[in-house]
Amino acid sequence: MMVLECECGNRTGLFATGDRDEHGREFIELEDDDRFGFEIGEDSVVFRCSFCGYKYRLKQYAPFE
Ligand SMILES: [Zn+2]
Repeated sequence: MMVLECECGNRTGLFATGDRDEHGREFIELEDDDRFGFEIGEDSVVFRCSFCGYKYRLKQYAPFE
């Protein structure tokens, strides 16, 4: 499991569902979506902490080979 943690101490896990896409990439889901939400934009993913409202933006720099 991967863990997502905000500066305020709020944390949740991202767990693997066991399902994979056609490229063998496994789908993950938020363990507790009351703690964090996320939005997928054109070139980034934004995670929002539901406790303090802080937002983290993960930008895409380059596609995977
Ligand atoms: Zn927070």
